[in-house]
Amino acid sequence: MPHVCGRFAPSPSGRMHLGNVLCALLSWLSARAKGGKYLLRIEDLDAERCPRSYANLIEDDLRWLGLDWDAGGAADGDSWYQSCRTPIYEKYAALLQEKAEVYPCFCSRAALHAASAPHLSDGRVLYAGTCYGLNAKQIYEKRKRRAPADRIHVPNLTISFSDGVQGPYTEHLPSECGDFLLRRSDGVFAYQLAVTVDDGLMGVTEVVRGRDLLSSTARQIWLHQLLGFHPPDYFHIPLLLDCDGRRLSKRDKDLDLGVLRQRFSPEQVIGALAFAAHLTERPRPISPQDLLSGFDWNRIPRTDLYLPNIFRSQQL
Ligand code: GLU
Repeated sequence: MPHVCGRFAPSPSGRMHLGNVLCALLSWLSARAKGGKYLLRIEDLDAERCPRSYANLIEDDLRWLGLDWDAGGAADGDSWYQSCRTPIYEKYAALLQEKAEVYPCFCSRAALHAASAPHLSDGRVLYAGTCYGLNAKQIYEKRKRRAPADRIHVPNLTISFSDGVQGPYTEHLPSECGDFLLRRSDGVFAYQLAVTVDDGLMGVTEVVRGRDLLSSTARQIWLHQLLGFHPPDYFHIPLLLDCDGRRLSKRDKDLDLGVLRQRFSPEQVIGALAFAAHLTERPRPISPQDLLSGFDWNRIPRTDLYLPNIFRSQQL
């Protein structure tokens, strides 16, 4: 069997909620069921919103749940925190400058979101190309007034792949994605660049994450190709919805692990999520280890999942 390497790549902007736990569980099961390695990478690019204290709590929560990892996190040092990997991203951003057209973009947020801007199905705005093709003099003048972001120009290319949960997916980069950011004007690298470089360098062979990131995948596959990496396999899992059908988020404090750990055992949390994800026939407490033998991606539904009953009374 080829070498398998999975990862969990949380952004520690708050305590883990049940949606994050489902993602951690399925990514762990997928890698471990194949005897693969599992990595923990902390995606704290926005270092102000992502303090180390939250990252440490995520590690503590993963241990409590019974999910282990082979490398990453605090014990393995700074190289597993994106906020400490800027020199690496700089090197790969320079490589992208050679392989594609990267240009300074001076557009403000307000200009980008102008009413006339075409919106994509996921709510993003298709970049109008305003700063593409500025000449040296225009760039020089604009630089005096504001620091630019770096944007990459997408060619006339269609990216197709088969997602392990959502099935075939195709995206025409110019019309369904548009030129996108590699680095913000404050110098922080964009998620798309960092995640691609890290998955590539860390030898990740499978990416498991929420289906809200499905539309980022074509961009990432294209960047993998430009940088000479082999793109991983992708599995975009259903989201967890609260009682009102809204997607769970870090705002749902009553469902974060800080609260749930006081009321439930790890086996109850894992068991309820495994049942919601169709991995078990009935909701019974179970450990991640005991789910390994029955794990099969074909069982996981594409469509979003409702909050398991045991957590409903929790949500007031
Ligand atoms: N850091 C992202 C998040 O927590 C996940 C990125 C990924 O898995 O590619 O939403």
